[in-house]
Amino acid sequence: MGKKTKLMMLGPPGAGKGTQAQRLASRMGIPQISTGDMLRAAKKSGSEMGKKAAEYMDKGHLVPDQVVIGIVEESLKSPDVADGFILDGFPRTVEQAEALDSLGIKLDAVLNIQVDEDVLVKRLGGRRACLTCGATYHVEHNPSKEEDICDKCGSETIQRDDDKPEAIRTRMGAYRGKTAPLIEFYRERGRLYDFDGAQSPDGVTAAIMSVIEE
Ligand code: AMP
Repeated sequence: MGKKTKLMMLGPPGAGKGTQAQRLASRMGIPQISTGDMLRAAKKSGSEMGKKAAEYMDKGHLVPDQVVIGIVEESLKSPDVADGFILDGFPRTVEQAEALDSLGIKLDAVLNIQVDEDVLVKRLGGRRACLTCGATYHVEHNPSKEEDICDKCGSETIQRDDDKPEAIRTRMGAYRGKTAPLIEFYRERGRLYDFDGAQSPDGVTAAIMSVIEE
């Protein structure tokens, strides 16, 4: 793979995109660009954009394309991405993927993590997130050492509004209708790699690393 490594995580909500993107980012020394984290930070900051985005996010709807495309365009101008980046949660619609194309960005690999929907619903319902550093936990499979406290930064962990049952159903619908078509979009261009996200997080990381090292 060339000097500048451009990766993208694809998969339904709860598949483990964020977990894997964080691991790859620290192993490879390139930043994770998570639109979900950036939108949650904007919501927390109370900015106009954050408030508007929260109306969509809290119910489990996708934030309008133009807003998200603008955020990503800004991050890709940062000097941090000189050696590459891992897109996590973007693109999520064909329109967003076309916007990435028109920025002249050609991805080296699209890492598609697949998991059955009933497994995802269970995972998301038990998920806890740190709004300060983005770390995620699961009440059963991966609890923080101290309940409701982030191991990494000591902030409080919470259940995201969009991890509540009604919003989870809406997010799955958005994935099926708007994001899943990207699988064919990228498969046709080659460079799409499938991973079984039902295995352990370490198993997924190992499978991804072997593709990247190739
Ligand atoms: P995530 O943390 O990736 O699950 O994203 C949380 C929420 O942020 C999503 O349910 C959407 O409401 C919003 N969001 C994140 N990324 C995008 C995107 N690329 N396009 C539209 N909405 C997004």
